[in-house]
Amino acid sequence: MTRLRVAVVGSGVSGLTAAHILGRTHEVTLFERDERLGGHANTIGVRAADGREVALDTGFIVHNERTYPTLLRLFAELGIATQPSDMSFGVRCDGCGLEYAGARGMQGVVPHPGVLGRPRYLRMLGEVKRFHRHARAVLRDPAADSLTLDAFLRDGGYSRYFADHFMLPLTGAVWSSSPATIRDFPARYLIRFFANHGMLTVTNSPQWKTVAGGSRVDSQNEGDYLEPTILDDVKPGMTAHREEFFGPVLSVQSFEETEEAISLADHPVYGLAASVFTSDINKALKLAHAIEAGTVWVNQHGRPADFAPPAGGYKGSGFGKDWGRAGIEGYLRQKAIWFAQN
Ligand SMILES: Cc1cc2nc3c(=O)[nH]c(=O)nc-3n(C[C@H](O)[C@H](O)[C@H](O)COP(=O)(O)OP(=O)(O)OC[C@H]3O[C@@H](n4cnc5c(N)ncnc54)[C@H](O)[C@@H]3O)c2cc1C
Repeated sequence: MTRLRVAVVGSGVSGLTAAHILGRTHEVTLFERDERLGGHANTIGVRAADGREVALDTGFIVHNERTYPTLLRLFAELGIATQPSDMSFGVRCDGCGLEYAGARGMQGVVPHPGVLGRPRYLRMLGEVKRFHRHARAVLRDPAADSLTLDAFLRDGGYSRYFADHFMLPLTGAVWSSSPATIRDFPARYLIRFFANHGMLTVTNSPQWKTVAGGSRVDSQNEGDYLEPTILDDVKPGMTAHREEFFGPVLSVQSFEETEEAISLADHPVYGLAASVFTSDINKALKLAHAIEAGTVWVNQHGRPADFAPPAGGYKGSGFGKDWGRAGIEGYLRQKAIWFAQN
């Protein structure tokens, strides 16, 4: 294959992915007009009411396994860890005082008994179900391609209340658009997005996920760090599996059988400590012997203050053996002295 000189313009997710893939076989130059990489994918620090800094994703926030298979393949290839997130939808109308949340079950739809005294709100909930059916029909109809959202709402005979308290806030939030501009948007395009993202039902929403640590590369600091984070679904080979974290990060891998747990716990490089939680003493003993770690706790977790027993890791892990008796023993030589009995 001829090696080409390729220019990629823009370092959003599209440009970065194109550059990453083309870079395997061609000479790629990436052009970005902004001062940072990432385009819409961005995480900024904001000060919370209690003074703490909170990392806020401002764009390209969530994905799921159902509709983002290619993105997930890229994440797996790059060893990018993800964590569960949610995608709820909250509305507060300063005009009439209505407050509710979607994707939060009954508690979100009926946040307090007062909303049950709002007939227009109850009617709107019925209209939401009708909207789901109507939207699926529009999706099947190619002739509806030129339909705007405004025309869709008129054709369906939806109430103004439904438009103002559900449809326009929802579409405006998804597309970051004002109610005025979103009315001119092609309805079928929006509906396809809703269908792809499991948003045309009140149940069966996909599990939303986000990139652990967000899209922030803080070049002001030495290295990047994660907020207290649980990384679920970590796979062997990912950075989160390969490297030690000295921070509030829990990498979770699940297993079916004991043998699988032993194999997952057997890290090629590290073997500091392990904890086994089980009510089966035989399993506890089997795992405690099999796991290649310098310390194994059973039904507890944490380093004891007492260093009389050998403490410290196996393989490339940690120190500690030198603090206790085992460390002293390293400096001693043993000698057998035998006395005859008479
Ligand atoms: C608020 C918000 C939330 C979102 N949330 C999600 C979400 O949760 N999940 C999801 O899947 N999608 C989400 N999206 C959509 C998603 O963020 C975008 O579809 C995606 O990031 C677009 O990536 P891109 O690379 O195509 O473009 P962009 O990210 O816009 O990148 C374009 C890049 O090109 C650069 N550029 C432009 N012109 C030039 C030039 N002439 N020379 C050099 N550089 C140039 C720009 O500076 C920019 O860096 C969201 C969008 C918004 C606005």
